Amino acid sequence: MTSADDLLETVANDPAGVLLALDFDGTLAPIVVDPTTAGVHPRSLAALDRLGPRLGGLAIITGRPVEQVRRLGDFDAHPGLHELFVRGQYGAERWSPATGVVEGADRHDVVDRLVADLPGLLSAWGAPEALVEDKGLAVAVHTRGLTPAAAAAVIDPLRDLARSLELTFEPGRQVYELRSASITKSDALLDVVAGLAVHTVVFAGDDLGDLPAYDALDDLASRGVATLKVCSASTEQDALVARADLVLDGPDGIADWLTELADLVDPVDAAV
Ligand SMILES: [Mg+2]
Repeated sequence: MTSADDLLETVANDPAGVLLALDFDGTLAPIVVDPTTAGVHPRSLAALDRLGPRLGGLAIITGRPVEQVRRLGDFDAHPGLHELFVRGQYGAERWSPATGVVEGADRHDVVDRLVADLPGLLSAWGAPEALVEDKGLAVAVHTRGLTPAAAAAVIDPLRDLARSLELTFEPGRQVYELRSASITKSDALLDVVAGLAVHTVVFAGDDLGDLPAYDALDDLASRGVATLKVCSASTEQDALVARADLVLDGPDGIADWLTELADLVDPVDAAV
């Protein structure tokens, strides 16, 4: 591993050797009740736009489908983000600037069945207001805004349903996914790293699904790569804090930190 201060020095002196990989929701994008209205924190977006052309690699690794996160992030409108790697649905979907197309985005039959059946099941479990999201390769059940009792009532039945259908159960912050793919953010991060000539790898996340990316950083560190685990902290999930090298105060803290990094590689814009 490296330290947060060492990373600043590396970014200042050799940014081309650094891969910066980030989760989307709860890290770059503040969590909102309606997940279709999420967007990247404006200061983070501005900082990434400045960092993109200078770093060895910039990646978004998210549970969302690629096309959704590219639209919500408005990345195409920012010239500095045209080289952005995007790995969606925990890495089952890949988009890279070299091809400009999404690979691995085929639908899975079980998702159609779940989208049809889950509203009735959720009503039977006492949570009819839970939001069912069709992700193509997975179905997400969002419980944000429900009563604590209703939100808690769906967890075990969803876990059992996932097991019976041989799907991956992915718990998150007020969201539970049943995934047709077992690929994790570890696979996604290592895949991005494999295509780059970098000596320093940074990953920032906020939720349980990000822990495999921390595992990937441990793996890379054992092979001599400098790594930094960054946690976007929240009151909803503290599982990452103990393992993180740098704990920041949610998407606002991430925005401050990214701006600090951007100021190192793009000091002209920093002179304000
Ligand atoms: Mg997240």
